[in-house]
Amino acid sequence: MRLAIVGAGWAGLAAAVRAADQGHDVTVFEASHMLGGRARAVESPQLEHRIDNGQHIMLGAYADTFALMDRLGLDLAGTLQRTPLALESADGGFRLALPRLPAPWHLGGALLAARGLGARDKLALARIFRALQRNRWRVEAGTTVARWLRQHRQGARLQSLFWGPLCVAALNTPVEQACAQLFANVLRDSLGATPEACDVVISRADLSSLWPDHVEQMQPAHPHGRIEIRRGQPVRHLEVGKPGVSADMDAPPAATPISGRDGASTISIQPGVIVNGESFDAVILATNVPSARRLLAQLPVAPGQTPACHTLMRRLSAFRFIPIATVTLELEHPWNMPASMLQLHENRAAGHYGQWVFNNVAFMAQPAAPMLHIVISDAAQALEMGEAELVRRLQAQLAEQGRRFGPLPAVVKHELIAEKRATFAAVPGLERPQPRTPWPGVLLAGDWTDTGYPAVLEGAVRSGQAAVAALACADRT
Ligand SMILES: Cc1cc2nc3c(=O)[nH]c(=O)nc-3n(C[C@H](O)[C@H](O)[C@H](O)COP(=O)(O)OP(=O)(O)OC[C@H]3O[C@@H](n4cnc5c(N)ncnc54)[C@H](O)[C@@H]3O)c2cc1C
Repeated sequence: MRLAIVGAGWAGLAAAVRAADQGHDVTVFEASHMLGGRARAVESPQLEHRIDNGQHIMLGAYADTFALMDRLGLDLAGTLQRTPLALESADGGFRLALPRLPAPWHLGGALLAARGLGARDKLALARIFRALQRNRWRVEAGTTVARWLRQHRQGARLQSLFWGPLCVAALNTPVEQACAQLFANVLRDSLGATPEACDVVISRADLSSLWPDHVEQMQPAHPHGRIEIRRGQPVRHLEVGKPGVSADMDAPPAATPISGRDGASTISIQPGVIVNGESFDAVILATNVPSARRLLAQLPVAPGQTPACHTLMRRLSAFRFIPIATVTLELEHPWNMPASMLQLHENRAAGHYGQWVFNNVAFMAQPAAPMLHIVISDAAQALEMGEAELVRRLQAQLAEQGRRFGPLPAVVKHELIAEKRATFAAVPGLERPQPRTPWPGVLLAGDWTDTGYPAVLEGAVRSGQAAVAALACADRT
């Protein structure tokens, strides 16, 4: 089958690898010149280095992502830094580290040894995990994380040190709005699983060269499999089939004609799709939500499909997005911060917006220069103050909270990358679409489809693979 994939983010590329391995002839259209989508490398004009569009962490639970990298023949031990989960604040006042004990003793051990939490907080944490396990990781439908935490009497200190930072890091949505069930799903597959599933995994290379750049060179497992990636080629036009003409001229005549928009004259449309004027048998839209919506809006609605099409378009319109900002400080010399990643105490009233700090010399295989990446999720408010002021405040926050590592070295240059639509707001009741659409041969992939996860890399990879599986099912029906 000639398959078009729109978007070379982790979803689109995961779909491309799976489809080529199954023998499909895959063409990937990517608007940008860089591969990786929202997890990609960028050339920073300020720093004059290649950095990521935002610091990403993976969890040991990202099984499909690691299997994909393994499939591409990558040396996982060399390209990834993998460490047992240790949540530690820069000021050293809070630390919760998972010992390598079999589940569930890893959690008990972590709680017993936790620093900065009183006995009451530790008991409350043990109780809420027990309740989650008892309820098979289900929480009441429609509940926000804030409400769920209140129901389980999680104290203010526990919320500010543990739950708040964890929720905003995992869902990029503040606890008052975040969907408790999506959060519970992340907890189930990490803290609720094995200690290894909680491992923090950081790329030692930039995110595009981690695996997306390897896809073009891969040798598909199937002799007919092929991948062509067209960079800098946005898809602006999408059509389904052609009246009376088979979309794929080499393919046998179509089996399941559908009716055109004009129900009265019943135009016969053969399956197949036309992407920017070129014919394919099927397309996977692995773009962001607005782009997918714009492309689907170009398609005719067959009379019998009207409600299903309207439902899908309504669902796509319901997504809201939340920014993530990453400030990179290039230092005169490395800071004495030994960990790859530390938690910062966010206190917006005090002008402290930083949530996590990453020290590149602790994890990059070949750091271009000593750099700190400071991550601000749910960053709309932080971005209002302007770059210079934000950078000044973050430096002050780092100097204050990281005092134990000695004075912060002089900042030589800095870069602010604001991803305005970093992730969708992971709120309760959001109806996320399945890979299949009412249009035959048109499928969806992306972290925003119904993956059971918030907007994360593993969800993106799984969604791409799910779209290829749905394609195979559609092919058989
Ligand atoms: C700053 C930041 C930090 C993050 N941190 C983490 C983290 O620590 N851990 C984690 O697991 N996840 C994290 N995420 C989320 C993660 O990056 C996303 O879940 C994942 O990258 C989404 O991949 P995707 O393929 O679904 O979508 P995208 O990456 O958005 O890919 C869509 C692609 O489609 C292309 N495109 C769009 N329209 C068209 C068109 N019309 N024609 C051609 N191409 C088009 C785009 O250019 C893009 O390349 C973070 C995201 C950001 C932005």
